[in-house]
Amino acid sequence: MSAGSFALTRAAQVLTLHDPEGPRTAARRGAAMAELGILRDASVVVDAAGEIEWIGPHTELTALMDRGELSVERVHDCAGEVIMPALVDPHTHLVWAGDRRDELELRLGGADYEAIFAAGGGILSSVRQTRAASDEQLYAQSLRRIERMRACGATTFEIKSGYGLELEAELRQLRVARRLRDEAGVRVKTTCLAAHAFPETARRGPQARRRFVDEICEQILPAVASEGLADYADVFCDRGAFTKDEAARVLDTAHALGMGLRVHANEFGHTGGAELAAEFRAASADHLLHMNADERSALAEAGVVATLLPGTSLVLGKPFADGRALIDAGVAVAIASDCNPGSCALENLAMILGLACYGCKLAPAEAVVAATHNAAASLGLAAEVGRLEVGMSADLLVLATDDYRDLVYHAGSPLVREVYSRGHRIS
Ligand SMILES: [Zn+2]
Repeated sequence: MSAGSFALTRAAQVLTLHDPEGPRTAARRGAAMAELGILRDASVVVDAAGEIEWIGPHTELTALMDRGELSVERVHDCAGEVIMPALVDPHTHLVWAGDRRDELELRLGGADYEAIFAAGGGILSSVRQTRAASDEQLYAQSLRRIERMRACGATTFEIKSGYGLELEAELRQLRVARRLRDEAGVRVKTTCLAAHAFPETARRGPQARRRFVDEICEQILPAVASEGLADYADVFCDRGAFTKDEAARVLDTAHALGMGLRVHANEFGHTGGAELAAEFRAASADHLLHMNADERSALAEAGVVATLLPGTSLVLGKPFADGRALIDAGVAVAIASDCNPGSCALENLAMILGLACYGCKLAPAEAVVAATHNAAASLGLAAEVGRLEVGMSADLLVLATDDYRDLVYHAGSPLVREVYSRGHRIS
């Protein structure tokens, strides 16, 4: 069904993020990381195909319409409001079954996340619940999450597997993610994260461990590639997870199979994840709580987007990634929810945008770039979403405020009034 053409008019601010296609850094062009291309008293016209047809000062639109040079089926007055690109969430694990509410209470009572994981809880608890769920249960639970997340302003999602840790369960998770792409009215990029953790069977010694890495490289990744189920592969390279050598093998294999690369890196310590992301020129290195100057410059030189997950730092009581230092080192920064059943089940990316300022020391404008354009660039979608330009998809938000900085000032408040995906209002 066509959305029909419409105009959103007279917005106090339209954040266009006009300009480059690649991820923005502070170094590339002045302070590009903070340039929002704001138009005031401006309007946006969306065509019947769901693309942006026109954007500019409202007086110009009025003149065009008066001369009969542009017409729309509907006009929606946005006086006193903000129009901005819809949010892009480039790191989620949102396909899982069950919950870990009990573990939340343990952690709040003082138990440590890594200790719970080492004792067979944490990720392995979600693996058991996800393997036991039917396809329909997995889909229905994930759909409810994505519905809440898009109501908070995100219309594009990266979704990782990683709660299967065996061939069939990994494939099932990725098929559910593809079904969400096809049926949930949002854009989805999928990532195979079979290298998320070592399952119980792989914890019986070095040989069992080695066999699991073999299984990922010789069975799981090739099967995922032959079914075309993943745009990216990811590996958790950190203390208690995959070593640098193991992670390199996974990334090598995935690259040879034609997948893009992402890396969970430097969340718990310096075990080589960020260096590896730079060596492989991965699309993204994520978490990055423990970083030194060499690691930052390696990411900058390799053009790897640094994806920060401040919600996870908040929930786990860990330090926040130093976003300021990354930006000052010339790294393109993105932010994401990390929505997952254990370390961060927060679903409101607009609130996490605020946390990126309070915790990671981004300026509000930098956080907007990080949650829109840079996130889209890390997913290869910079020409489709994350900015408002003629010809791009009309994935946009109307905020119930006249100043975008309220996203940070009033972080977590329900400021996202309307959400459009491909020109369709979805919330
Ligand atoms: Zn993650």
